[in-house]
Amino acid sequence: MFRQSRGPVDNEKYYKILGVSKDASPSDLKKAYYKLARDCHPDKNKGDPEKLKQFQELSHAYEVLSDPEKKNLYDTYGEEGVKQGGGGFSDPSSIFEQFFGGFGGFGGGHPGRSGPKRGEPINFQFTLSLKDLYNGTKKKLKVTKNVICSGCSGKGSTKEGAYKTCPGCGGKGVTFARRAMGATIIQMQQDCSQCNKKGEIIDKKDQCTKCKGKKTVQEPKIIEVEIDRGMRDGSRITFPEEGNQVPGVTPGDMVVIVKEVSPDPSGFTRRNDDLIFEKKVTLLEALTGYQFQLTHLDGRCLLIKSAPGDITRAGDIRVVHGEGMPMHKNPFQKGNLFIRFSIDWPKKSTLSPQQFELLSKALPPKPDLGPIPMEYEEVVTEPFDEVRHNEPQDYDRSEAYDDDEPSQAGCVHQ
Ligand SMILES: [Zn+2]
Ligand SMILES: [Zn+2]
Repeated sequence: MFRQSRGPVDNEKYYKILGVSKDASPSDLKKAYYKLARDCHPDKNKGDPEKLKQFQELSHAYEVLSDPEKKNLYDTYGEEGVKQGGGGFSDPSSIFEQFFGGFGGFGGGHPGRSGPKRGEPINFQFTLSLKDLYNGTKKKLKVTKNVICSGCSGKGSTKEGAYKTCPGCGGKGVTFARRAMGATIIQMQQDCSQCNKKGEIIDKKDQCTKCKGKKTVQEPKIIEVEIDRGMRDGSRITFPEEGNQVPGVTPGDMVVIVKEVSPDPSGFTRRNDDLIFEKKVTLLEALTGYQFQLTHLDGRCLLIKSAPGDITRAGDIRVVHGEGMPMHKNPFQKGNLFIRFSIDWPKKSTLSPQQFELLSKALPPKPDLGPIPMEYEEVVTEPFDEVRHNEPQDYDRSEAYDDDEPSQAGCVHQ
């Protein structure tokens, strides 16, 4: 039937590609494929030929090993055997889609898709500090999910035929009520209250004592979540088929969604792969240069200095290249660190006449006032009061129009 190959047949390559042993269960295969394929999926790696090749190889290996017939051919005759026995390979992306519903929903599935029913994914939010997202970490997360009741193996009762079709809804789980809305009669659908949408009921005396006839029980579970370096707010970590268990339905996925703590205790703020740090320097530092120590998220001490001659104004931003967050999936590449400055000015009336004199000598001179006209009015500025000065104005204007002939004199502008 098959051409006899010369020498030993390579029937291990596909297992190596997926990183599983030859006796891996279908579920192990699926998990291994999912874990590797999502990292090199073309949707995530636009145009990277290496990743695309890896994705194709993974998908081919998974397609063969997940099909008992093809797997048998492969185990006996190797890759050549599969080609001769079963024709070509499917489109790698469609394999991924077929099992995981593509990237958008991860398990949400296509509405019209055939195959076993899949449960909805369950999501958990996991709050993490920037330190954890910078360095990567493994954390334990306690979650509660529905599992098939072990007392009745998900039947709701240990008695055979204990479930009966609900008389309230005839097994549909919903009831219909007709209601008149003006001239039109509309049909309203309601959840059946007798069976709680299940379509079947069970006598109380026949209920499984462990799950009270619900078929599933809530169980706490500790899951270990691996946080990769550079993960962002909203990053998703998927545990395939670890969602709520429902009898007769393939469980949906459990999805852990990363949430960045805000504000972060480190004082850093994140913007994509960049970090922002607010720094206050004194007026002297702003004029003559600053240096300060900053402990980074990995514990390193950065000694940060201004460039020679640089003068810092309030709101100025300076950049330290390559000291931002590590990029997810490419952690040796990092974003930038932006430092936004504010200036700590001397407080009111704290400078002495001697300091004024020294400052006058040190700084560029004040502008010349120029000739002052014979008549002038001296006014002193006051601090601006947000509330008082934004109120509707109600000045006594009579004074301004006292004189019929306004003076022609004006200021001499330089
Ligand atoms: Zn039970
Ligand atoms: Zn019912």
